[in-house]
Amino acid sequence: MSSVPQERRIVTAIPGPKSQELQARRVNTVAGGVGSVLPVFTTRVDGGIIEDVDGNRLIDFGSGIAVTSVGGSAEAVVRRASAQLEDFTHTCFMVTPYEGYIEVCEQLAELTPGDHAKKSALFNSGAEAVENAVKIARAYTKRPAVVVFDHGYHGRTNLTMALTAKNMPYKQGFGPFAPEVHRVPVAYGYRWPTGAENAGAEAAKAAMEQITKQIGAENVAAIIIEPVLGEGGFIEPAKGFLPAMVKFANDNGIVFVADEIQSGFCRTGQWFACEDEGIVPDLITTAKGIAGGLPLAAVTGRAEIMDAAHAGGLGGTYGGNPVACAGAIGAIETMKEQDLNGKAKRIEEVMKGRLSKMQEKFGIIGDIRGRGAMIAIELVKDPATKEPNPEAATALAKACHAEGLLVLTCGTYGNVLRFLPPLVIGEDLLNEGLDIIEGGLAILEANETV
Ligand SMILES: *Cc1c(COP(=O)(O)O)cnc(C)c1O
Repeated sequence: MSSVPQERRIVTAIPGPKSQELQARRVNTVAGGVGSVLPVFTTRVDGGIIEDVDGNRLIDFGSGIAVTSVGGSAEAVVRRASAQLEDFTHTCFMVTPYEGYIEVCEQLAELTPGDHAKKSALFNSGAEAVENAVKIARAYTKRPAVVVFDHGYHGRTNLTMALTAKNMPYKQGFGPFAPEVHRVPVAYGYRWPTGAENAGAEAAKAAMEQITKQIGAENVAAIIIEPVLGEGGFIEPAKGFLPAMVKFANDNGIVFVADEIQSGFCRTGQWFACEDEGIVPDLITTAKGIAGGLPLAAVTGRAEIMDAAHAGGLGGTYGGNPVACAGAIGAIETMKEQDLNGKAKRIEEVMKGRLSKMQEKFGIIGDIRGRGAMIAIELVKDPATKEPNPEAATALAKACHAEGLLVLTCGTYGNVLRFLPPLVIGEDLLNEGLDIIEGGLAILEANETV
């Protein structure tokens, strides 16, 4: 554990001179397609703070995109992963297995929704988990089609690009994409034409009609949805939508897959976001928050579905790497011991309280949404028209970065500011971060730049 002092400290411009030097080297050697939200080069991360090479300490509202929920150097993760590193780094589970992999699968069976018999397979990245969920669903149903949703995000590999809704930056120029992927409407309450109260039922009806009329339910292997849509703008499908889609899947022999890669592992104040509406998915994909920063992903689900793929049909050289498994066991232990579900709920309470007050003051906040420590504001030019305001989102993120608060943007229209603090962040840092956001909104309004 690096025990970085838990206080913001800005000693240079952001990014500072040493970061700028490294950025110049980076530009010469790192492919231009790989971006960075904020090119401050990191030295240490702990709790709610990111320290950079110039000695600045930034407040972290990003967690490396919802990964370091337990902090960037959590004691139990570092201890267990270090011990594993000394014993062995790799064997390949498909060559000679080891206990850590089994322990992670046991934890996943215990923590994921539903008390049916469950099995898991481990992988390296979220995209790989989603790809394997599709392989498993197709092997089980012997059907080809996959249904996904508007505003959905599932990764950057060929199949998961096809599953992802947004063209720029994820897909532009990278086709052709995998076939038999079909996109249907999702209940985006804030932008539903007849109002949020009708979104759940109407969107579900439209989605089901599209599936039966355009694809044929009997051709569909899987319906894949994020219980809270992440990159698409932290969209919580309006009440009733997810249960309706689960029922439709069950009635038609379709495997229902919850992609909880961003929303899982205490992020929304539950182990998994689908618990809020009592959803029990057939398969669930996890990654990001699972292993305290080490690369690990999983598909977990009904034993009879998971066993549908033939022996040798699933796997990969590094999938379920022993060091990553040790990290996951440490991360899960930390989540339980420090009640990080409770912490996420408290973060929601503080954030939504403060953001609601800002919404009253600043007209550009059209919507505040999300759950737990997965909270976002959608910025608009005018609350009456709801016209997206991506310029304001970019300007506000920039203003926050300059003050030493790391925030991320997202959303199909690029107009959503998302907040994903580590669940272990101190409440003082949380409030200081919110002060910076409020200050940024005031500057935006004063400058009338947006
Ligand atoms: C990040 C993300 C993925 C892709 O995960 P990678 O580890 O980046 O491949 C898939 N689905 C969702 C919902 C995500 O947020």
